[in-house]
Amino acid sequence: MSFFAQLAFDNRFAALPPQFHTRLEPTPVPAPYLVAWNPDALELLGLPPAAVASAEFVAIFSGNAPLPGAAPLAAIYAGHQFGHYVPQLGDGRAILLGEVVHPSGSRWEVQLKGAGRTPYSRGGDGRAVLRSSIREYLCSEAMHGLGIPTTRALCLTGSDLPVHRESVESGALVTRLAPSFIRFGSFEVFYYRGQHEEIKTLADFALRHYFPELLDEARPYPALLREITRRTARLMAQWQAAGFCHGVMNTDNMSILGLTLDYGPYGFMEAYDPRYVCNHSDHDGRYAYDQQPQIGAWNCTCLAQALLPLMELDEAREALSGYGDIFATEYMRLMCAKLGLPFEEASAPLLTGLLDLMAQNRTDYTILFRALGGFDSGAAAKNAGVRDLFIAREAFDAWAAGYGARLRAIGSEDAARAARMHRVNPKYVLRNHLAETAIRKARDERDYTEIERLRGLLARPFDEQPEFDDYAKEPPDWAREIAVSCSS
Ligand code: AMP
Ligand code: MG
Repeated sequence: MSFFAQLAFDNRFAALPPQFHTRLEPTPVPAPYLVAWNPDALELLGLPPAAVASAEFVAIFSGNAPLPGAAPLAAIYAGHQFGHYVPQLGDGRAILLGEVVHPSGSRWEVQLKGAGRTPYSRGGDGRAVLRSSIREYLCSEAMHGLGIPTTRALCLTGSDLPVHRESVESGALVTRLAPSFIRFGSFEVFYYRGQHEEIKTLADFALRHYFPELLDEARPYPALLREITRRTARLMAQWQAAGFCHGVMNTDNMSILGLTLDYGPYGFMEAYDPRYVCNHSDHDGRYAYDQQPQIGAWNCTCLAQALLPLMELDEAREALSGYGDIFATEYMRLMCAKLGLPFEEASAPLLTGLLDLMAQNRTDYTILFRALGGFDSGAAAKNAGVRDLFIAREAFDAWAAGYGARLRAIGSEDAARAARMHRVNPKYVLRNHLAETAIRKARDERDYTEIERLRGLLARPFDEQPEFDDYAKEPPDWAREIAVSCSS
Protein backbone atom coordinates (compact mmCIF):
# COMPACT_ATOMS: atom_id res chain seq x y z
CA MET A 1 0.00 0.00 0.00
CA SER A 2 1.12 3.52 -0.70
CA PHE A 3 2.78 5.33 2.17
CA PHE A 4 0.69 8.37 1.40
CA ALA A 5 -2.65 6.58 1.50
CA GLN A 6 -2.12 6.23 5.25
CA LEU A 7 -1.94 9.97 5.87
CA ALA A 8 -5.01 11.49 7.46
CA PHE A 9 -6.11 14.87 6.10
CA ASP A 10 -8.36 17.55 7.51
CA ASN A 11 -8.11 20.45 5.09
CA ARG A 12 -9.54 23.21 7.23
CA PHE A 13 -8.22 26.19 5.25
CA ALA A 14 -9.69 24.69 2.08
CA ALA A 15 -13.06 24.54 3.83
CA LEU A 16 -13.10 28.34 4.20
CA PRO A 17 -15.39 30.13 1.71
CA PRO A 18 -14.03 30.71 -1.82
CA GLN A 19 -13.11 34.35 -1.12
CA PHE A 20 -10.06 33.05 0.76
CA HIS A 21 -8.42 30.97 -1.93
CA THR A 22 -8.48 29.48 -5.38
CA ARG A 23 -8.54 25.71 -5.64
CA LEU A 24 -6.07 24.47 -8.25
CA GLU A 25 -3.50 21.77 -8.91
CA PRO A 26 0.25 22.31 -9.14
CA THR A 27 1.66 22.50 -12.66
CA PRO A 28 3.84 19.44 -13.38
CA VAL A 29 7.55 19.83 -14.14
CA PRO A 30 9.61 17.76 -16.58
CA ALA A 31 11.57 14.82 -15.11
CA PRO A 32 11.66 15.79 -11.44
CA TYR A 33 14.32 14.42 -9.12
CA LEU A 34 14.89 14.43 -5.39
CA VAL A 35 17.52 16.90 -4.21
CA ALA A 36 17.17 16.61 -0.44
CA TRP A 37 14.85 15.32 2.22
CA ASN A 38 14.66 15.93 5.91
CA PRO A 39 14.13 12.96 8.21
CA ASP A 40 13.07 15.22 11.11
CA ALA A 41 10.23 16.74 9.10
CA LEU A 42 9.25 13.40 7.67
CA GLU A 43 8.62 12.26 11.21
CA LEU A 44 6.36 15.26 11.83
CA LEU A 45 4.03 13.92 9.16
CA GLY A 46 4.33 10.35 10.40
CA LEU A 47 5.97 9.12 7.20
CA PRO A 48 8.63 6.40 7.46
CA PRO A 49 12.05 7.00 5.82
CA ALA A 50 11.18 4.26 3.30
CA ALA A 51 8.54 6.58 1.82
CA VAL A 52 11.32 8.70 0.34
CA ALA A 53 12.53 5.90 -1.91
CA SER A 54 9.15 5.48 -3.57
CA ALA A 55 8.65 7.05 -7.00
CA GLU A 56 5.50 8.60 -5.58
CA PHE A 57 7.50 10.77 -3.19
CA VAL A 58 9.26 12.75 -5.92
CA ALA A 59 6.13 12.87 -8.03
CA ILE A 60 3.99 14.27 -5.22
CA PHE A 61 6.50 16.82 -3.94
CA SER A 62 7.29 18.15 -7.39
CA GLY A 63 3.61 18.69 -8.10
CA ASN A 64 3.47 15.92 -10.71
CA ALA A 65 1.09 13.63 -8.85
CA PRO A 66 -1.75 14.42 -6.50
CA LEU A 67 -1.47 13.80 -2.80
CA PRO A 68 -4.48 11.62 -2.04
CA GLY A 69 -6.78 13.31 0.46
CA ALA A 70 -5.32 16.78 -0.05
CA ALA A 71 -7.26 19.77 -1.40
CA PRO A 72 -4.72 21.99 -3.19
CA LEU A 73 -5.19 25.74 -3.30
CA ALA A 74 -3.50 29.10 -3.55
CA ALA A 75 -4.39 31.51 -0.74
CA ILE A 76 -5.15 35.18 -1.21
CA TYR A 77 -3.40 37.90 0.76
CA ALA A 78 -2.09 41.43 0.38
CA GLY A 79 0.61 43.27 2.25
CA HIS A 80 2.71 46.30 2.95
CA GLN A 81 5.86 45.91 0.88
CA PHE A 82 8.68 48.26 1.84
CA GLY A 83 6.12 50.47 3.57
CA HIS A 84 3.61 50.62 0.73
CA TYR A 85 0.33 48.80 0.54
CA VAL A 86 0.11 46.37 -2.37
CA PRO A 87 -3.50 45.31 -2.76
CA GLN A 88 -3.24 41.86 -4.18
CA LEU A 89 -0.45 39.43 -3.63
CA GLY A 90 -1.37 35.91 -2.61
CA ASP A 91 0.35 32.63 -3.24
CA GLY A 92 1.82 33.46 -6.61
CA ARG A 93 3.96 30.36 -6.69
CA ALA A 94 3.03 28.42 -3.58
CA ILE A 95 0.32 25.79 -3.45
CA LEU A 96 -1.05 24.55 -0.18
CA LEU A 97 -1.64 20.85 -0.71
CA GLY A 98 -3.54 20.17 2.47
CA GLU A 99 -3.42 19.65 6.21
CA VAL A 100 -2.02 16.39 7.55
CA VAL A 101 -3.17 15.15 10.94
CA HIS A 102 -0.45 13.10 12.63
CA PRO A 103 -1.63 10.13 14.75
CA SER A 104 -0.50 12.15 17.80
CA GLY A 105 -3.02 14.84 16.89
CA SER A 106 -0.54 17.45 15.72
CA ARG A 107 -1.37 19.05 12.40
CA TRP A 108 0.81 20.27 9.57
CA GLU A 109 -0.14 22.16 6.47
CA VAL A 110 1.95 20.97 3.53
CA GLN A 111 2.83 23.58 0.94
CA LEU A 112 4.80 23.41 -2.31
CA LYS A 113 6.74 26.54 -3.18
CA GLY A 114 7.56 26.90 -6.87
CA ALA A 115 4.60 24.80 -8.03
CA GLY A 116 3.55 26.88 -11.03
CA ARG A 117 1.32 29.83 -11.83
CA THR A 118 -1.74 30.71 -9.81
CA PRO A 119 -4.30 33.50 -10.21
CA TYR A 120 -2.02 35.52 -7.88
CA SER A 121 1.16 35.20 -9.93
CA ARG A 122 0.92 38.78 -11.29
CA GLY A 123 3.05 38.06 -14.35
CA GLY A 124 5.50 35.82 -12.50
CA ASP A 125 6.27 32.33 -13.71
CA GLY A 126 5.15 30.62 -10.51
CA ARG A 127 8.52 28.99 -10.15
CA ALA A 128 11.46 29.09 -7.77
CA VAL A 129 15.09 28.50 -8.69
CA LEU A 130 17.25 25.80 -7.19
CA ARG A 131 19.56 28.39 -5.56
CA SER A 132 16.87 30.10 -3.52
CA SER A 133 15.10 26.83 -2.76
CA ILE A 134 18.28 25.40 -1.23
CA ARG A 135 18.60 28.56 0.84
CA GLU A 136 15.04 28.28 2.14
CA TYR A 137 15.35 24.56 2.82
CA LEU A 138 18.55 24.96 4.80
CA CYS A 139 17.64 28.09 6.71
CA SER A 140 14.29 26.90 7.95
CA GLU A 141 15.97 23.87 9.47
CA ALA A 142 18.90 25.95 10.77
CA MET A 143 16.45 28.27 12.53
CA HIS A 144 14.63 25.31 14.01
CA GLY A 145 17.96 23.97 15.24
CA LEU A 146 18.56 27.31 16.97
CA GLY A 147 15.20 27.01 18.70
CA ILE A 148 13.63 29.87 16.75
CA PRO A 149 10.01 29.46 15.61
CA THR A 150 9.89 28.84 11.88
CA THR A 151 8.18 27.05 9.06
CA ARG A 152 9.84 23.69 8.44
CA ALA A 153 11.18 22.10 5.27
CA LEU A 154 10.31 18.55 4.28
CA CYS A 155 12.17 18.15 1.03
CA LEU A 156 13.59 19.73 -2.05
CA THR A 157 12.89 18.50 -5.57
CA GLY A 158 14.47 19.74 -8.76
CA SER A 159 13.77 19.76 -12.46
CA ASP A 160 15.75 20.83 -15.48
CA LEU A 161 12.91 23.18 -16.28
CA PRO A 162 14.68 26.42 -17.26
CA VAL A 163 13.69 29.34 -15.05
CA HIS A 164 14.57 32.84 -16.22
CA ARG A 165 15.96 35.25 -13.66
CA GLU A 166 19.05 37.44 -14.24
CA SER A 167 20.29 34.32 -16.01
CA VAL A 168 18.69 31.00 -16.81
CA GLU A 169 18.63 28.72 -13.78
CA SER A 170 17.03 25.38 -13.06
CA GLY A 171 13.74 25.14 -11.23
CA ALA A 172 13.11 23.53 -7.86
CA LEU A 173 10.36 23.14 -5.31
CA VAL A 174 10.60 23.31 -1.53
CA THR A 175 7.97 21.49 0.45
CA ARG A 176 7.23 23.56 3.53
CA LEU A 177 5.34 22.63 6.66
CA ALA A 178 3.62 24.87 9.19
CA PRO A 179 0.56 24.67 11.38
CA SER A 180 -0.71 27.57 9.26
CA PHE A 181 0.63 29.91 6.59
CA ILE A 182 -1.80 32.74 7.45
CA ARG A 183 0.00 36.08 7.24
CA PHE A 184 -0.76 39.60 8.47
CA GLY A 185 -1.57 40.34 4.83
CA SER A 186 -4.27 37.65 4.84
CA PHE A 187 -6.31 40.08 6.97
CA GLU A 188 -5.18 43.25 5.23
CA VAL A 189 -6.53 42.19 1.85
CA PHE A 190 -10.09 42.14 3.20
CA TYR A 191 -9.73 45.31 5.25
CA TYR A 192 -8.66 47.42 2.30
CA ARG A 193 -11.42 45.96 0.14
CA GLY A 194 -13.98 46.80 2.81
CA GLN A 195 -14.92 43.11 3.25
CA HIS A 196 -15.38 43.16 6.99
CA GLU A 197 -17.33 39.91 7.14
CA GLU A 198 -14.28 38.07 5.80
CA ILE A 199 -12.04 39.64 8.45
CA LYS A 200 -14.33 38.19 11.08
CA THR A 201 -14.44 34.80 9.39
CA LEU A 202 -10.65 34.61 9.25
CA ALA A 203 -10.20 35.87 12.83
CA ASP A 204 -12.72 33.30 14.05
CA PHE A 205 -10.88 30.62 12.07
CA ALA A 206 -7.56 31.61 13.61
CA LEU A 207 -8.97 31.77 17.13
CA ARG A 208 -10.75 28.44 16.91
CA HIS A 209 -7.86 26.51 15.40
CA TYR A 210 -4.65 28.16 16.59
CA PHE A 211 -5.55 30.18 19.68
CA PRO A 212 -8.48 28.28 21.23
CA GLU A 213 -7.48 29.38 24.76
CA LEU A 214 -8.32 32.98 23.77
CA LEU A 215 -11.94 32.11 23.10
CA ASP A 216 -12.45 32.19 26.86
CA GLU A 217 -11.38 35.84 27.04
CA ALA A 218 -14.04 38.51 27.44
CA ARG A 219 -12.84 40.10 24.21
CA PRO A 220 -11.26 37.43 21.97
CA TYR A 221 -10.35 39.69 19.01
CA PRO A 222 -8.21 42.13 20.99
CA ALA A 223 -6.75 39.09 22.76
CA LEU A 224 -5.83 37.66 19.37
CA LEU A 225 -4.09 40.87 18.36
CA ARG A 226 -2.30 41.01 21.73
CA GLU A 227 -1.08 37.43 21.35
CA ILE A 228 0.17 37.90 17.77
CA THR A 229 1.90 41.09 18.91
CA ARG A 230 3.52 39.20 21.78
CA ARG A 231 4.73 36.40 19.52
CA THR A 232 6.09 38.89 17.01
CA ALA A 233 8.00 40.79 19.70
CA ARG A 234 9.48 37.56 21.02
CA LEU A 235 10.43 36.41 17.53
CA MET A 236 12.21 39.70 16.89
CA ALA A 237 14.15 39.25 20.13
CA GLN A 238 15.19 35.79 19.00
CA TRP A 239 16.26 37.03 15.57
CA GLN A 240 18.31 39.83 17.13
CA ALA A 241 19.97 37.50 19.62
CA ALA A 242 20.88 35.03 16.87
CA GLY A 243 22.13 37.83 14.59
CA PHE A 244 19.54 36.82 12.02
CA CYS A 245 18.44 39.32 9.42
CA HIS A 246 15.28 38.41 7.48
CA GLY A 247 15.71 40.85 4.64
CA VAL A 248 12.09 41.30 3.49
CA MET A 249 9.90 42.02 6.49
CA ASN A 250 6.84 42.92 4.45
CA THR A 251 3.53 42.24 6.17
CA ASP A 252 2.82 39.45 3.68
CA ASN A 253 5.88 37.66 5.11
CA MET A 254 4.73 37.95 8.74
CA SER A 255 3.14 34.83 10.21
CA ILE A 256 0.24 35.22 12.62
CA LEU A 257 1.74 32.31 14.56
CA GLY A 258 5.00 34.20 15.09
CA LEU A 259 6.98 31.90 12.81
CA THR A 260 9.89 32.94 10.67
CA LEU A 261 8.33 32.81 7.21
CA ASP A 262 9.49 33.21 3.59
CA TYR A 263 13.24 32.94 3.41
CA GLY A 264 14.64 35.14 0.67
CA PRO A 265 17.76 37.29 0.92
CA TYR A 266 18.24 36.58 4.64
CA GLY A 267 21.62 36.63 6.33
CA PHE A 268 23.28 35.76 9.61
CA MET A 269 25.38 38.56 10.97
CA GLU A 270 29.08 37.85 10.55
CA ALA A 271 31.22 40.99 11.08
CA TYR A 272 29.06 42.80 13.63
CA ASP A 273 27.43 45.91 12.24
CA PRO A 274 24.06 47.04 13.59
CA ARG A 275 23.32 48.66 10.24
CA TYR A 276 23.82 45.37 8.39
CA VAL A 277 21.49 45.03 5.39
CA CYS A 278 21.38 41.53 3.94
CA ASN A 279 19.11 42.30 0.98
CA HIS A 280 21.00 44.02 -1.81
CA SER A 281 17.75 45.43 -3.19
CA ASP A 282 17.04 47.22 0.12
CA HIS A 283 18.89 50.43 -0.73
CA ASP A 284 17.45 52.47 2.14
CA GLY A 285 18.18 49.83 4.74
CA ARG A 286 14.53 49.66 5.77
CA TYR A 287 15.07 46.08 6.90
CA ALA A 288 18.55 46.54 8.35
CA TYR A 289 19.40 44.37 11.36
CA ASP A 290 18.89 47.15 13.89
CA GLN A 291 15.56 48.12 12.31
CA GLN A 292 13.95 44.71 12.68
CA PRO A 293 12.43 45.20 16.15
CA GLN A 294 10.69 48.43 15.20
CA ILE A 295 9.62 47.08 11.83
CA GLY A 296 8.08 44.15 13.70
CA ALA A 297 6.11 46.68 15.75
CA TRP A 298 5.14 48.65 12.65
CA ASN A 299 3.89 45.46 11.03
CA CYS A 300 1.77 44.73 14.09
CA THR A 301 0.14 48.14 13.71
CA CYS A 302 -0.69 47.21 10.10
CA LEU A 303 -2.36 44.08 11.39
CA ALA A 304 -4.16 46.08 14.08
CA GLN A 305 -5.49 48.43 11.41
CA ALA A 306 -6.87 45.47 9.46
CA LEU A 307 -8.55 44.12 12.61
CA LEU A 308 -10.13 47.46 13.60
CA PRO A 309 -13.57 46.44 12.33
CA LEU A 310 -13.53 43.81 15.10
CA MET A 311 -12.59 46.06 18.03
CA GLU A 312 -12.50 49.55 19.46
CA LEU A 313 -9.53 51.74 18.68
CA ASP A 314 -8.53 51.76 22.35
CA GLU A 315 -8.58 47.98 22.45
CA ALA A 316 -6.27 47.82 19.45
CA ARG A 317 -3.94 50.36 21.06
CA GLU A 318 -3.88 48.39 24.28
CA ALA A 319 -3.21 45.13 22.44
CA LEU A 320 -0.20 46.68 20.67
CA SER A 321 1.09 48.50 23.72
CA GLY A 322 2.97 45.55 25.19
CA TYR A 323 5.29 45.16 22.21
CA GLY A 324 8.12 47.38 23.43
CA ASP A 325 8.39 45.86 26.88
CA ILE A 326 8.01 42.29 25.66
CA PHE A 327 10.73 42.79 23.07
CA ALA A 328 13.09 44.58 25.47
CA THR A 329 12.63 42.02 28.22
CA GLU A 330 13.00 39.01 25.96
CA TYR A 331 15.99 40.48 24.14
CA MET A 332 17.71 41.30 27.43
CA ARG A 333 16.96 37.84 28.80
CA LEU A 334 18.48 36.19 25.74
CA MET A 335 21.51 38.46 25.63
CA CYS A 336 22.25 38.03 29.34
CA ALA A 337 22.20 34.29 28.76
CA LYS A 338 24.57 34.70 25.83
CA LEU A 339 26.92 36.59 28.15
CA GLY A 340 26.51 34.05 30.92
CA LEU A 341 25.24 36.79 33.21
CA PRO A 342 22.13 36.90 35.36
CA PHE A 343 19.09 38.52 33.81
CA GLU A 344 19.25 41.79 35.71
CA GLU A 345 19.74 45.48 35.14
CA ALA A 346 23.38 45.36 36.24
CA SER A 347 24.22 43.21 33.21
CA ALA A 348 23.10 45.85 30.71
CA PRO A 349 26.24 48.03 30.67
CA LEU A 350 28.42 44.98 30.03
CA LEU A 351 26.22 44.02 27.10
CA THR A 352 26.15 47.45 25.49
CA GLY A 353 29.87 47.84 26.14
CA LEU A 354 30.59 44.60 24.33
CA LEU A 355 28.30 45.35 21.40
CA ASP A 356 29.93 48.77 20.96
CA LEU A 357 33.34 47.15 20.88
CA MET A 358 32.16 44.54 18.44
CA ALA A 359 30.74 47.21 16.14
CA GLN A 360 34.01 49.17 16.22
CA ASN A 361 36.04 46.05 15.52
CA ARG A 362 33.60 44.33 13.15
CA THR A 363 33.95 41.21 15.26
CA ASP A 364 32.28 38.05 13.98
CA TYR A 365 29.04 37.80 15.96
CA THR A 366 28.76 34.03 16.26
CA ILE A 367 32.46 33.36 16.80
CA LEU A 368 32.71 35.99 19.53
CA PHE A 369 29.83 34.74 21.63
CA ARG A 370 30.91 31.14 21.25
CA ALA A 371 34.46 32.04 22.28
CA LEU A 372 33.21 34.03 25.25
CA GLY A 373 31.94 30.78 26.73
CA GLY A 374 35.58 29.90 27.39
CA PHE A 375 36.29 33.14 29.27
CA ASP A 376 38.49 32.71 32.34
CA SER A 377 37.26 35.00 35.08
CA GLY A 378 40.47 34.68 37.08
CA ALA A 379 43.43 34.75 34.70
CA ALA A 380 43.26 37.44 32.01
CA ALA A 381 46.22 35.82 30.25
CA LYS A 382 44.04 32.81 29.45
CA ASN A 383 41.67 34.93 27.38
CA ALA A 384 44.04 35.59 24.49
CA GLY A 385 41.73 33.68 22.12
CA VAL A 386 38.84 36.07 22.66
CA ARG A 387 41.15 39.08 22.83
CA ASP A 388 42.55 38.25 19.40
CA LEU A 389 39.10 38.70 17.90
CA PHE A 390 39.49 42.45 18.45
CA ILE A 391 41.77 44.93 16.76
CA ALA A 392 41.50 47.36 19.66
CA ARG A 393 43.03 45.00 22.23
CA GLU A 394 43.29 47.54 25.04
CA ALA A 395 39.65 48.46 24.72
CA PHE A 396 38.81 44.78 24.96
CA ASP A 397 41.06 44.44 28.02
CA ALA A 398 39.13 47.18 29.75
CA TRP A 399 35.82 45.52 28.98
CA ALA A 400 37.16 42.09 29.98
CA ALA A 401 38.36 43.45 33.31
CA GLY A 402 34.84 44.65 34.07
CA TYR A 403 33.31 41.39 32.87
CA GLY A 404 35.72 39.29 34.93
CA ALA A 405 35.12 41.43 38.00
CA ARG A 406 31.38 41.05 37.60
CA LEU A 407 31.66 37.27 37.19
CA ARG A 408 33.78 37.02 40.34
CA ALA A 409 31.41 39.31 42.25
CA ILE A 410 28.45 37.08 41.52
CA GLY A 411 30.47 33.92 42.19
CA SER A 412 30.05 32.60 38.65
CA GLU A 413 31.90 29.32 38.22
CA ASP A 414 33.77 29.16 34.91
CA ALA A 415 33.07 25.57 33.88
CA ALA A 416 29.37 25.65 34.74
CA ARG A 417 28.96 28.98 32.99
CA ALA A 418 30.76 27.71 29.89
CA ALA A 419 28.39 24.76 29.66
CA ARG A 420 25.36 27.04 29.98
CA MET A 421 26.70 29.51 27.44
CA HIS A 422 27.44 26.81 24.90
CA ARG A 423 23.79 25.84 25.00
CA VAL A 424 22.72 29.32 23.90
CA ASN A 425 25.65 30.49 21.75
CA PRO A 426 25.70 28.38 18.59
CA LYS A 427 28.98 27.29 17.13
CA TYR A 428 27.40 27.00 13.68
CA VAL A 429 25.05 29.26 11.76
CA LEU A 430 24.13 29.18 8.08
CA ARG A 431 26.76 31.56 6.81
CA ASN A 432 26.23 32.71 3.23
CA HIS A 433 29.37 31.03 2.00
CA LEU A 434 28.27 27.68 3.42
CA ALA A 435 24.96 27.90 1.60
CA GLU A 436 26.78 29.13 -1.50
CA THR A 437 29.13 26.14 -1.50
CA ALA A 438 26.17 23.76 -1.30
CA ILE A 439 24.43 25.68 -4.09
CA ARG A 440 27.46 25.57 -6.40
CA LYS A 441 27.97 21.85 -5.89
CA ALA A 442 24.30 21.20 -6.57
CA ARG A 443 24.20 23.44 -9.62
CA ASP A 444 27.55 22.66 -11.23
CA GLU A 445 28.06 19.01 -10.29
CA ARG A 446 24.58 17.79 -9.34
CA ASP A 447 26.19 16.87 -6.07
CA TYR A 448 23.64 17.30 -3.29
CA THR A 449 25.67 15.83 -0.46
CA GLU A 450 26.69 19.22 0.89
CA ILE A 451 23.04 20.18 1.38
CA GLU A 452 22.47 17.13 3.55
CA ARG A 453 25.75 17.69 5.40
CA LEU A 454 24.73 21.26 6.27
CA ARG A 455 21.22 20.25 7.27
CA GLY A 456 22.57 17.65 9.67
CA LEU A 457 25.21 20.01 11.04
CA LEU A 458 22.80 22.90 11.57
CA ALA A 459 20.19 20.72 13.21
CA ARG A 460 22.64 20.63 16.17
CA PRO A 461 24.28 24.05 16.07
CA PHE A 462 25.27 24.08 19.75
CA ASP A 463 27.18 20.78 19.58
CA GLU A 464 30.94 20.93 19.05
CA GLN A 465 31.04 18.53 16.07
CA PRO A 466 34.82 19.08 15.80
CA GLU A 467 35.04 17.44 12.37
CA PHE A 468 33.21 20.52 11.07
CA ASP A 469 35.45 23.15 12.69
CA ASP A 470 36.00 24.81 9.30
CA TYR A 471 32.26 25.48 9.05
CA ALA A 472 32.46 27.66 12.16
CA LYS A 473 35.06 30.00 10.68
CA GLU A 474 34.75 33.44 9.18
CA PRO A 475 33.94 33.58 5.46
CA PRO A 476 36.84 33.11 3.04
CA ASP A 477 37.79 36.03 0.81
CA TRP A 478 35.86 34.74 -2.23
CA ALA A 479 32.65 34.79 -0.22
CA ARG A 480 32.77 38.41 0.87
CA GLU A 481 31.36 39.50 -2.48
CA ILE A 482 28.28 37.29 -2.42
CA ALA A 483 25.32 39.53 -3.10
CA VAL A 484 21.95 38.17 -2.12
CA SER A 485 19.10 39.71 -4.05
CA CYS A 486 15.33 39.31 -3.86
CA SER A 487 15.47 37.38 -7.13
CA SER A 488 14.44 33.87 -6.34
P1 AMP B 1 8.18 36.97 -1.87
O1 AMP B 1 9.02 38.16 -2.11
O2 AMP B 1 8.79 35.67 -2.33
O3 AMP B 1 7.64 36.88 -0.49
O4 AMP B 1 6.93 37.12 -2.85
C1 AMP B 1 6.08 38.25 -2.86
C2 AMP B 1 4.87 37.93 -3.72
O5 AMP B 1 5.26 37.67 -5.05
C3 AMP B 1 4.10 36.70 -3.29
O6 AMP B 1 2.75 36.91 -3.61
C4 AMP B 1 4.71 35.62 -4.16
O7 AMP B 1 3.87 34.50 -4.29
C5 AMP B 1 4.89 36.36 -5.46
N1 AMP B 1 5.96 35.81 -6.29
C6 AMP B 1 7.29 35.84 -6.05
N2 AMP B 1 7.96 35.23 -7.02
C7 AMP B 1 7.05 34.79 -7.91
C8 AMP B 1 7.12 34.06 -9.15
N3 AMP B 1 8.27 33.67 -9.66
N4 AMP B 1 5.96 33.79 -9.78
C9 AMP B 1 4.78 34.18 -9.28
N5 AMP B 1 4.64 34.86 -8.12
C10 AMP B 1 5.76 35.16 -7.45
MG1 MG C 1 6.45 36.19 0.63
